[in-house]
Amino acid sequence: MVVFVGVNELLSMVRARGPETFISGLVDYVEHDFRRWTAFDKTPRIASHSDIGVIELMPTSDGKLYGFKFVNGHPINPKTGRLTVTAFGALADVKTGYPMLISEMTLLTALRTAATSAMAARALARPDSRTMGLVGNGSQSEFQAHAFKALLGIDRIAIFDIDPAAMDKFEANMAGSGISIRRAKSAADAADGADIVTTVTADKTNATILRDGDVGPGTHLNAVGGDCPGKTELDAAILENASVFVEYTEQSRIEGEIQQMDKDFAVTELWKVLSGKAKGRTSRDEITVFDSVGFAIEDFSALRYLHDSLSGKRRTLDLIPDLDNPKNLFGLLSIEKATLVA
Ligand code: NAD
Repeated sequence: MVVFVGVNELLSMVRARGPETFISGLVDYVEHDFRRWTAFDKTPRIASHSDIGVIELMPTSDGKLYGFKFVNGHPINPKTGRLTVTAFGALADVKTGYPMLISEMTLLTALRTAATSAMAARALARPDSRTMGLVGNGSQSEFQAHAFKALLGIDRIAIFDIDPAAMDKFEANMAGSGISIRRAKSAADAADGADIVTTVTADKTNATILRDGDVGPGTHLNAVGGDCPGKTELDAAILENASVFVEYTEQSRIEGEIQQMDKDFAVTELWKVLSGKAKGRTSRDEITVFDSVGFAIEDFSALRYLHDSLSGKRRTLDLIPDLDNPKNLFGLLSIEKATLVA
């Protein structure tokens, strides 16, 4: 039997710990796996594009466990009452090839994206950062806010979204969180004076959410929403004047903000900073950019975290046949027949 974690099971786990404790625990798993980066099979994710969205498969393995995620990105979906991003995934035992866990990953993706963003910011932002501009107040946004509070102590956030109802929702969800919120008039206004700026908008276009002049010296940019060919958020001039950090260069050159730059544009992979093999921020005035697209190892870490966190009664799925004689798969048909007759 394969363990199954559905939306309700994951919600119970996150509610029981609280989102910030859950995300902090997840950061430990993601960071642990980034520090052993070379142990993993890596490939850019396999994307199937349409005019309005993308469906992607994200596999990786460390030789002991194998994980994959199915994820979509359809910025138009909220117009018809659907989420922009949904996902599910699995973790399997490499020794036998048998799946161990199948999980919902829509919530888990929001949690792991926030965990990875905050992990990157902890390594790259100025250590005394306390304020954040948050542009794009959709599904991912509250998770980002909680992660930055938990890991960096962010306690003031200026929000902006082209949809005022999304800002209302963000404010309602964050009431009582200990974060003071200012409604900005524009993305530039949200970025004004912020130590960290997170862009997490959804639009299948080369948008310019922020221009070069909008970003002050020393800012750390957490650019989350540009994650597909033809879907970016930042003015290329920002990247030219910043130090840019990515997850997996090969995938980021296809999908990230750096798709706008020449193929030899210099970037640093985040795992190298986390494991002391490369420098992060080198001065207070430097602008750092985490050009996040989401990489398979983050989902692997999230599934591993989930698997290790399971306790009590687990729901299982009847997914793999359980046979006395593993060569007699056909024999199942007569067992079923016998059961039916009985
Ligand atoms: P969502 O549709 O729920 O929210 C996106 C918000 O962006 C909406 O409220 C929309 O009104 C707002 N928006 C669109 N254009 C804007 C603009 N020009 N200025 C200000 N706001 C604008 O989507 P979501 O699930 O929150 O995802 C947000 C983005 O993050 C998507 O692009 C998604 O693909 C991406 N994402 C990235 C990762 C990663 O690992 N990097 C993971 C998950 C999602």
